Amino acid sequence: MRTGHQYREALLDERRVYIDGKRTGPVAAHPAFRGIVETLASLYDFAADPQNGMTYTAPETGAFANKVFMIPRSAQELKTRREAIAAWARKTHGLVGRSPDHVGSFLAGFASDPAFFDAPGRPFGKHVSAFYKKTLEQSLYVSYVIIPPQIDRSKTAQSLEEKFLQAGVVRETDGGIIVRGAQMLGTGAAISDYLLVSCIVPLKPGDEEYANTFVVPAGAKGLKLYCRPPYAPGKSSVFDYPLSTRFDESDALAVFEDVFVPWEDVFVYRDVERVRNQFFATPAHTLGNAQAQTRLTAKMQFMCGLARKIAAMNQIEAVPSVIEKLGELSSLAAMVEGMVVAAEAACVLDKHGVARPNARFLYGAMGLQSEIVPRALGILRELSGGGVLQVPSSYHELLEDETAADMRRYVRSPGVPAEERIKLFRLVWDLVGSEFGGRHHQYEMFYAGAPYVAKGYAYRNYGYDETVKRVNEFLASYELPKM
Ligand SMILES: Cc1cc2nc3c(=O)[nH]c(=O)nc-3n(C[C@H](O)[C@H](O)[C@H](O)COP(=O)(O)OP(=O)(O)OC[C@H]3O[C@@H](n4cnc5c(N)ncnc54)[C@H](O)[C@@H]3O)c2cc1C
Repeated sequence: MRTGHQYREALLDERRVYIDGKRTGPVAAHPAFRGIVETLASLYDFAADPQNGMTYTAPETGAFANKVFMIPRSAQELKTRREAIAAWARKTHGLVGRSPDHVGSFLAGFASDPAFFDAPGRPFGKHVSAFYKKTLEQSLYVSYVIIPPQIDRSKTAQSLEEKFLQAGVVRETDGGIIVRGAQMLGTGAAISDYLLVSCIVPLKPGDEEYANTFVVPAGAKGLKLYCRPPYAPGKSSVFDYPLSTRFDESDALAVFEDVFVPWEDVFVYRDVERVRNQFFATPAHTLGNAQAQTRLTAKMQFMCGLARKIAAMNQIEAVPSVIEKLGELSSLAAMVEGMVVAAEAACVLDKHGVARPNARFLYGAMGLQSEIVPRALGILRELSGGGVLQVPSSYHELLEDETAADMRRYVRSPGVPAEERIKLFRLVWDLVGSEFGGRHHQYEMFYAGAPYVAKGYAYRNYGYDETVKRVNEFLASYELPKM
């Protein structure tokens, strides 16, 4: 099983990652990424330690692999997989969205149905199976870019002002395809091993050049990753910014400057229908999003813990309106967790014997996520008041002779020394108010599609026909009174 050291070593390639107009050089050593790389390395070390129960013998390779990458073939295996995902999520309290298990779950979904990728004259199912085996063997960290750049959302790729604004295939050679254009927002792309490149947004006939799925190494020649402003650099300490300094995965616009992709890394080629259906005809979307909801469960639980601690510290725990807020927050957290468990308990075995999380419950949680998370953040803010700002500018005030006494005297709570109080409120601010916190808020609202898209999933997977049938039966059970 891959260790943290092996992960760090794998990042020493020629990847082109840009910050402030310049290439960053080795990402593991760069201040923007050092913290998150260490966090991911610690996840790999945790998984590699047999004592943590994260390994199983994968039937596809006959070798040990991380359970988070498992293709679940029973409700029990779905549970086993979820417990491993939860164990990783608890290490970061759900604050690393795209840990390797996210896209790894999509790949497991693809690989559970390789025949789906066998198009006429293009038997690509074997490419999917081979890459999945590589993921199992090497515990690969794959990120993805499956959304076109935000340029003009009223059109699909073929109708944009220029060709190849969205990443597409310029030409093919005997050995593979040449890709040009961009895709938006690869979370973790800068620190991953591979990018999965595809398009989940519906395309139309005529968009074939853009209807592809392939994997590409993060260090591939011609691939450029433009990161948004990083949050770790310039932060005074982990004590002051415990999340920004260690959990900032980065998000990057991926630009393909005629990148060569060998055929063996191509899963779908110039196929509008297949590129869309790959997510839903296979269990990829449900397995990937069950991972995401398991991660969110850990985050909601963490938020509950924070809220309770704030209330205890400020001695407001017994105030009825505070209890009401804590009750609302715990209800939201329990709903997310309950939907994950329900999706698992009511899983459906598909025709390949793969246990798919129940779509009604999974998408039910996703449909409300853009409201649940902002509400939970709102409760944390409300309980915190100005406490998140009645903190010193950095840890230095706790250490300097001229300031330490004032900190100890005035920044405290009954039985709680200044250091402990400041530590808690700095953590809360990093979650609700820092740039890291703001980005996470946006992440939870958009990572699985805009809110109207997520609600669309909930609508399509609820089972409305049955509810309408029941209403119709009821309406048919009585009539207009006779004169
Ligand atoms: C922090 C973060 C991380 C992300 N990480 C990844 C990643 O790792 N990989 C990846 O591929 N993507 C990633 N994304 C991108 C994400 O998938 C998109 O944000 C999402 O699909 C929505 O697309 P958009 O942001 O362009 O919003 P848009 O599609 O432009 O939507 C913005 C708003 O416009 C309105 N709107 C637009 N179109 C319509 C319409 N047809 N009907 C009704 N209303 C409409 C809605 O109000 C909508 O909320 C990430 C996004 C964020 C914010």
